[in-house]
Amino acid sequence: MSQPAGSPPVSPSVHARLAQVRGIMTDMDGTLYIGGAAMPGAVDFMRWAEAGDRQRIVLTNNSSKAREVYRDRLDALGMPVPLEAVLTSGDASAEWLVAHTALRRPFVLGTEALRAACARAGLTPTSLADGPDCVLLGYDTSLDYAKLTDACLLVAQDLPYYATHADKTCIDPRGLLPDAGAFIEAIATTTKGRRPTILGKPTAAMLEAGLRRIGTPRAATLMVGDQLDTDIALGAQHDVLCALVMTGETSEQMLAESPVKPDLVVPDVGALLTLLRAAQGD
Ligand SMILES: [Mg+2]
Repeated sequence: MSQPAGSPPVSPSVHARLAQVRGIMTDMDGTLYIGGAAMPGAVDFMRWAEAGDRQRIVLTNNSSKAREVYRDRLDALGMPVPLEAVLTSGDASAEWLVAHTALRRPFVLGTEALRAACARAGLTPTSLADGPDCVLLGYDTSLDYAKLTDACLLVAQDLPYYATHADKTCIDPRGLLPDAGAFIEAIATTTKGRRPTILGKPTAAMLEAGLRRIGTPRAATLMVGDQLDTDIALGAQHDVLCALVMTGETSEQMLAESPVKPDLVVPDVGALLTLLRAAQGD
């Protein structure tokens, strides 16, 4: 096997799996960019990932923002993707509810973007007064006391209860902000400990939605990201090749101590591209 100079060592089995990759699922924040800057090699990586018969999508557990926000951000950084290639945990959750349950009238603890994702999938966001059949909790940056109260009352009534993801904090230049996991804890405190079924990364709901968009089998799919408990767990728990980039949240120590292990570790997506090119002979 040929090993590009300066790249990390890759086992023959991982090299063989890299050679098969036709579908690429990539996390965004900490993987393709951080703040307003593209990661080293990210533009070339994304260009390669859509060339020939390859397909790529980008994904995020952030269910508070519309897909357009991510498309426009990537576009500004020189990584244009169509809207359909942006997958949020909100879309994945709504699509999973439609595909796997008879529930169609969620009470949405979330933003307008999550309500729009629900409507796109065929769900009807429903207020407490109108009799919802389930609760869907997201990263609600428009949360107020009335909405939190309604959610607690419905969860206490034992309605089916789901969340788009469980991240407890959202990284921000100002510091750590309360994310969906923090709202889950607030509701659990009020409802004798009731917690939702999680549907974003690293669950099968996110993988299903991703594979539906790229159309590749798991054996020809690569998941790339900077977080062990979401991005890498998504691959590791579902038999999808997963590559960890060290440009984001994960430190060497976190990797060493983690029970979740990536198939390969690279400094950045540029180094991953070098390995993919070597494996695929281009
Ligand atoms: Mg990330």
